[in-house]
Amino acid sequence: MPHHLLDTPIEYLKGVGPQRGELLKKELSIFTYSDLLYYYPFRYIDRTQFYKISSLKPELPMVQVLGRVVSKEIIGEKQKKRLVALLKDDTGLLELVWFQGIKWIDSLLQPGLVFIVFGKPSSFNGKLSMSHPELELYDPENKKPGNLALQPVYGSTEKLKQYSLDSKGIQRLTANLLQVVLSHVPETLPDYILQQYRLISKRLALQHIHFPSDVNLMHAAQQRIKFEELFFIQLKLLRNKTVLTRKYKGLIFGQVGDKFNTFYNERLPFELTGAQKRVIKEIRQDTQRGVQMNRLLQGDVGSGKTAVALMCMLLAIDNGFQACMMAPTEILAQQHYLSLEKLLGDNLATIALLTGSTPKKQRKIIHAELENGNINILIGTHALIEDTVKFNNLGLVVIDEQHRFGVEQRAKLWTKNHVPPHILVMTATPIPRTLAMTLYGDLDVSVIDELPVGRKPIKTIHLYESQRLRMFGFMREEIAKGRQVYIVYPLIKESEKLDLLHLEAGIEAISQEFPLPQYRISIVHGKLSASDKEAEMQRFARGETQIMVATTVIEVGVNVPNASVMIIENAERFGLSQLHQLRGRVGRGAEQSYCILMSGSKLSKDARIRLDTMVRTNNGFEISEIDMQLRGPGDIEGTRQSGVLDLKLADLVTDQAILQTARDCVIRIFDEDPDLSSEKNRLLWQYFNQREHGLVWNKIS
Ligand code: ADP
Ligand code: MG
Repeated sequence: MPHHLLDTPIEYLKGVGPQRGELLKKELSIFTYSDLLYYYPFRYIDRTQFYKISSLKPELPMVQVLGRVVSKEIIGEKQKKRLVALLKDDTGLLELVWFQGIKWIDSLLQPGLVFIVFGKPSSFNGKLSMSHPELELYDPENKKPGNLALQPVYGSTEKLKQYSLDSKGIQRLTANLLQVVLSHVPETLPDYILQQYRLISKRLALQHIHFPSDVNLMHAAQQRIKFEELFFIQLKLLRNKTVLTRKYKGLIFGQVGDKFNTFYNERLPFELTGAQKRVIKEIRQDTQRGVQMNRLLQGDVGSGKTAVALMCMLLAIDNGFQACMMAPTEILAQQHYLSLEKLLGDNLATIALLTGSTPKKQRKIIHAELENGNINILIGTHALIEDTVKFNNLGLVVIDEQHRFGVEQRAKLWTKNHVPPHILVMTATPIPRTLAMTLYGDLDVSVIDELPVGRKPIKTIHLYESQRLRMFGFMREEIAKGRQVYIVYPLIKESEKLDLLHLEAGIEAISQEFPLPQYRISIVHGKLSASDKEAEMQRFARGETQIMVATTVIEVGVNVPNASVMIIENAERFGLSQLHQLRGRVGRGAEQSYCILMSGSKLSKDARIRLDTMVRTNNGFEISEIDMQLRGPGDIEGTRQSGVLDLKLADLVTDQAILQTARDCVIRIFDEDPDLSSEKNRLLWQYFNQREHGLVWNKIS
């Protein structure tokens, strides 16, 4: 039985043992040697040199400064009490600040003494300072050997610290580990790639990511490891795509026929935007190549994705195929059905709707008509995926609002035809480019980055609670013009009770301000039954009520063009993408639309950035970039299954360039060598073919 050194349980490492082993598993999910090997420092301490005070910048890591204390002073009262000292070297003065342990520091810091001060420079009101730096009395005789390199800092926990596994403790374990395993770690990237991209070897990288001997090697190690992480995600994604497109021939939509042309020339009630035309052209090209299309269509709410989808479905029908369109909820499926039916008019195509609530009898008819090919277009929810749904000749699948569908569900649709149908995935949640490359790296991406002409950009304002009367006044004006208004309240699991109270109080206040019979209000929240919810939505959609008070249950994509005002209560509690989604409910008609963000006066820094961003821009892509910067990619919808979260070092916000390089590299590899069968790609071939214990580089025999 071969022994895989890196799979050795962590307790066998020198310095660990059963008790600490348990803790490492529990606290940091470190089970094996390899887990510890890939547990990277999150920061380094630069003790290679003394920095001059004049050269300090907030961008530096933790650094050390040598200087004399020239003054100290305790200022403020109680909570705000702090000790401020000034440190001087031959280039300038640096402010040192402590908020805690003041008594102890006060006794230590005597003016006139020279200290090695060690901490992170930061800038406050344009002035450089260090808060809570470490202090060491300078002793010219004492040259500690350990202080002469970049020191790694590892994340630890209170529990681990009790067992001497603070950062220093983990550092000691890592040093032991490297001694045992480093010479056994195999290279994972082919030599020619290392050379081409000037990457250091795997062993060198692991050595210097943990114990960099200088700043250059630290950067080189980071570069190599980040590249590798992003490279293998792309390799997996594009490998699937390469394999599948080689295995299956794609259906060919060779001609633009009558239905497409009739629709375009006679039925389409508007001129397509340039972006819509471009996307249709891209899809046309995709569907004639004899390769299955897997395309992601990104476009902000209201950019006209549905029209594009419809024209592609007509293209399928013109070529003798059926098409289907899948939406995440019943109400959306229904809306699509109605609007497509209207656009198509009579006799262009036969269209049917299939959802969970389609009566059995009708369902049977639909099943039969699908199988014999009488239905051209089927609209529906998840119900479409069920095995009982069989098509005669399915050529195109359109999936709306992709983020609610898993990859597996997508794959299931492939089996609905003997040759997999073309797949067009549409999403109204723009996601940052890097995330798109990682989440949907196996899809080609089209973007509609242009709104239909004449559409007025939504005006967004931010009002504080104290300005509520202005908001009511504005609502009255808009309703007097015949418009409708949404008011949305947050409903968040953790504070659901409180939220419901807010909602009730809100409804109460609105009902008083907008009394019957002049005003009518719809109310929709999660406690209502599905059918009540639906009925209320329909009332609003038909214009029977002027105000819709709702929690965030109002559906993505619901279309009420006459609604021109979106008011978001407690807007500071919503995430950016959610705010943007909500705002997208209005601005769907020809009228000027508005979004009013209501908030309290106390705002966190992030909340302020979110609200300011919303006021400043309507651009979903820009908003998504900022959202990712604020929250990190992990919180963005759809990332959970994607491998993004397995990234240990690479960062989709800051490492765009490396991602692009890695992706380009992988694309070139598959262009040249789709089977990875050439000798120079042997390591990559092995990555897919010799995996026994997780990833191949964990396997050492
Ligand atoms: P999305 O699904 O991208 O949010 P829709 O396809 O629902 O957007 O389109 C929103 C509205 O804009 C619909 O009422 C649609 O008829 C209209 N529309 C789409 N394309 C155009 C266009 N090129 N010119 C004018 N109106 C358009
Ligand atoms: Mg839509």
